[in-house]
Amino acid sequence: MAQNRMKKVVLMYLASIAVVATAWLAFPTESSANRPVRIDTVRTHLVVPRPALEPLKSLITSPSDPIDTLDTANEHIKVVLHADQTWHYYKTPGFQQTTGVFDEHWNESATNPYGIEQSELPNEWSIWLVDSLDQYHCPFQGSVYYRGKFGPRRGRRHQGVDIPLKVGDPVYATFTGKVRVSKYWGAFGNLVVIRHENGLETFYAHLSKRNVEVGDWVNAGDVIGLGGSTGRSTGPHLHYETRYKGFAFDPQWLIDFEKGILRHRLFVLKKKYFNIYSNYEQDFEDEIKNDEDDKKEDAEKAAMKYYVIKSGDTLGRIAINNGTTVNALCRLNGITPKTTLKIGRKIRVR
Ligand SMILES: [Zn+2]
Repeated sequence: MAQNRMKKVVLMYLASIAVVATAWLAFPTESSANRPVRIDTVRTHLVVPRPALEPLKSLITSPSDPIDTLDTANEHIKVVLHADQTWHYYKTPGFQQTTGVFDEHWNESATNPYGIEQSELPNEWSIWLVDSLDQYHCPFQGSVYYRGKFGPRRGRRHQGVDIPLKVGDPVYATFTGKVRVSKYWGAFGNLVVIRHENGLETFYAHLSKRNVEVGDWVNAGDVIGLGGSTGRSTGPHLHYETRYKGFAFDPQWLIDFEKGILRHRLFVLKKKYFNIYSNYEQDFEDEIKNDEDDKKEDAEKAAMKYYVIKSGDTLGRIAINNGTTVNALCRLNGITPKTTLKIGRKIRVR
């Protein structure tokens, strides 16, 4: 019921856009007639922004050709209209370039151009994966091979997932971004690496053909190459990685490959995911242990007791009054029996 109502709202919205578009197309103003309308059909796909927050399959729903663009209040954002009266937002590459993500640590011949220590990163942080301008498309839908999961494998780090495909199957850009690497790269075979505006990088390996070059801007859903078995590969499959600041984490935290859906719009990336043993399917024990540790810490915090030092206090007297010892007080507070007790200082007694 609620879904039907939602559909109705969306249809009305699209209908109103279509009416405006038709009017605009029927009576072009002088300025719009003079303005060259350029549509990049290679880069542009139809995307219908969805108001609901359900997991995303793909927002690319129409094979219909773009017929025109409309300006918005932001000069870098256009509305692209399609022949079947659907539309999507289009963000110009120039706008994306202003963020700086694509200038720093940009090296087309390094798999990890960052050179950052994990200790420099916070324990967790939030990453927006999609919004009405930045969309998602499953790189390739299928069940991750049982032996192709993120984790240690034959003494190496298997830093991604392996998804079966046939040679020549299209492989799609997961999100909007800029191609940082496109070359034949040893064990990876034909490799494409795309950096996205949120700083994430996605790796597509063992391709039989690469369709993009370094510096190309791609939209989610663009076919960036064809499936293959190049490099260290025993049969056709897509080796797919997700990395942040050079560190790989299990792509299954983001994507349900079997259903082809994106699990989150806003993703909380935790540093512990960079551990090769931190697998989406096996990390639940870890989660339970973390919860237990948190509870233990909370209980310890709740049991803490403090005393504010007053004139005439000595460590010995504070210890006796609180049923503890001088040694225990020193240990809890990182002091020695000779430390001067400043009046007003808070001292932990338990
Ligand atoms: Zn692999």
